[in-house]
Amino acid sequence: MRSKADVAIVGAGPAGLLLDHLLHREGLSVVVLEAKTRRYLETSPHRIRAGVMEWGTREILVQVGLGEGLLQNGYEHQGIYLAHAGELRRIDFPSLAEGWRIWVYGQQYLVRDMIARFLEEGGEILFEHEVIGLENLASAPRVRYRTPEGREAELEATFVVGADGSHGRMRAFIPGLSLKERVYPFAWLGILAEAPPAADELIYASHPRGFALFSMRSKTLARNYLQVSPEENLEEWPEERIWEELNLRLEGVAQVQPGPLLEKSLTPHRAFVAEPMQYGRLFLIGDAAHVVPPTGAKGMNLAVADAVALFQAFWAFFKTGDEAKLSRHTETCLEHVWQGEYFSYWMTHLLHTHPDPFREGLRQAEIKQVLASEPLQRFLATNYTGHHTTGRWVGTLA
Ligand SMILES: Cc1cc2nc3c(=O)[nH]c(=O)nc-3n(C[C@H](O)[C@H](O)[C@H](O)COP(=O)(O)OP(=O)(O)OC[C@H]3O[C@@H](n4cnc5c(N)ncnc54)[C@H](O)[C@@H]3O)c2cc1C
Repeated sequence: MRSKADVAIVGAGPAGLLLDHLLHREGLSVVVLEAKTRRYLETSPHRIRAGVMEWGTREILVQVGLGEGLLQNGYEHQGIYLAHAGELRRIDFPSLAEGWRIWVYGQQYLVRDMIARFLEEGGEILFEHEVIGLENLASAPRVRYRTPEGREAELEATFVVGADGSHGRMRAFIPGLSLKERVYPFAWLGILAEAPPAADELIYASHPRGFALFSMRSKTLARNYLQVSPEENLEEWPEERIWEELNLRLEGVAQVQPGPLLEKSLTPHRAFVAEPMQYGRLFLIGDAAHVVPPTGAKGMNLAVADAVALFQAFWAFFKTGDEAKLSRHTETCLEHVWQGEYFSYWMTHLLHTHPDPFREGLRQAEIKQVLASEPLQRFLATNYTGHHTTGRWVGTLA
């Protein structure tokens, strides 16, 4: 492998892989270091994660030549359903969000597509190479990593990108970094099952027993979630109980058909925003810098927006030596990050049964207003489809 690169990227998630594709196609030398194996990224049930792409994400990926798999195997959805008090209301995206829709395609499939494409084009991804330290970030960074054999080695790079996810260590190398955090009193018990989805589009169900989300990865794979306590014990949720509870929370509007479970997980809801997202020649993107609760389906989309923003700043630097965009990386990204945080916060509180009776009363009032008000539905649709997040970046890549 090389001992020098223009850009070293830590982490082969959607953020790191998209940035790496954009830089590589402009002829820059990029090395991606990823702690896990390729097989783990592409097949582990722990990496199933996101499935909803904003229209902006879809447009960007197609425009930069990463659309083949998602166009062949993904699905366009023109709306979502909101279920409340036995009523099912469809939120029609094209009419409310200036023609924008969403695209359903699993994050794991996208990661698989991006890895294959990058390697085909001669790119370098070092799997099972864990980054353990960064040095000299102010002028000439060095990345210390451990090889699969346990040997320690170094890579020199003009810039380093921390795309190492929410549990990553790269943000610890930013002196004075602060985290603005929120812990929500909610968690999702998620399942992936070989079963037909409950409906043709996602159903977000508000119910006194707790929120439930009915989504899908394909016409035969259902991805469903139940609101539970963050302290919930998954052992107490055998398959039959999960299906029974899903159907209770859908009562009167639809029914789900049980099928074999492929995965079961617990995701406590939390959020944070790290500031600044840069120091010297280190830049953070994606979950390494910010996390949202999953309700608004914003996490992967914000990762895409950050990657496009940082690519443009790098490109300005490598083409003309202009560092102005790089110096504003934090401010540029925080613009869409806080839009994503705000919408995720709003949608999470709108839909989850709150343990505090006063907050729950407010929530009931709010959801009735949303179901009755076209301006509020327009607000939901424009945010959900990504006007204020990846929408900022559509059409900015030549
Ligand atoms: C249950 C669930 C459902 C979700 N649903 C949605 C959705 O519908 N829509 C949406 O937009 N988002 C969703 N998200 C969020 C989305 O999955 C994340 O926002 C997205 O993965 C962020 O991408 P990333 O590239 O920043 O980080 P990651 O995907 O976490 O990638 C980081 C990579 O860095 C590697 N790494 C970490 N440390 C090191 C190291 N020291 N050295 C080398 N490599 C390292 C990791 O192994 C990992 O591969 C969901 C998340 C969950 C958990």
